[in-house]
Amino acid sequence: MSNLFEVKHPLIDCHLTKLRDAETGSDEFRQLVRRLATLVAYEATKDLKIDPQTVVTPLTEMVGSRLGERVGLVPILRAGLGMIDPILDLIPTAEVWHLGLYRDEATAQPVEYYSKLPPGNPVDTALIVDPMLATGGSAMAALETLKKWGVKRTKIASLLASREGIDALQKEFPETQIYVCRVDPILNDKKYIVPGLGDAGDRIFNTLKS
Ligand code: URA
Repeated sequence: MSNLFEVKHPLIDCHLTKLRDAETGSDEFRQLVRRLATLVAYEATKDLKIDPQTVVTPLTEMVGSRLGERVGLVPILRAGLGMIDPILDLIPTAEVWHLGLYRDEATAQPVEYYSKLPPGNPVDTALIVDPMLATGGSAMAALETLKKWGVKRTKIASLLASREGIDALQKEFPETQIYVCRVDPILNDKKYIVPGLGDAGDRIFNTLKS
């Protein structure tokens, strides 16, 4: 069974089209990232464990649910930060663990420059968050770090992925579930996703012109 979930929804199509548009400015781009992050995270969290929780309503007592596991969100800096707040709105008890990885522009390989994971006590499920899954290199480096931490279940939530990145990830980490809004066909020679949306970090943080 494939662990790739390309989320199909008419709202995703519409928001993604606006996100891709080169004319969309940073303010609207951030808003669209938040909407899409919510939609993809909704799917990515469908199998989270829940425990029974008694609640007293104004009318009676009943048994409802509460989250039954520790969830860690791992944004790939810097673009992943744009997806964190909307996912925290969905999972307010989630922990956010930062991993600093930048893409060396010459080699397109990830370079880790920040990691403060503790020596033990890993979360039950880690959700790696990165709007762009291009070569898959940063996600794989993060998965390696999370594996060393002892995390049993790992997932990835992205907005756009490349076919090449998905293939690489599935080969190296077949057990990791990948949730994306869309898989685009091509990576160009600079390892940008095509048709894609350009540099997600620059568009989120309004640093395109610098
Ligand atoms: N990172 C981006 O922001 N965009 C791409 O197309 C690839 C990697």
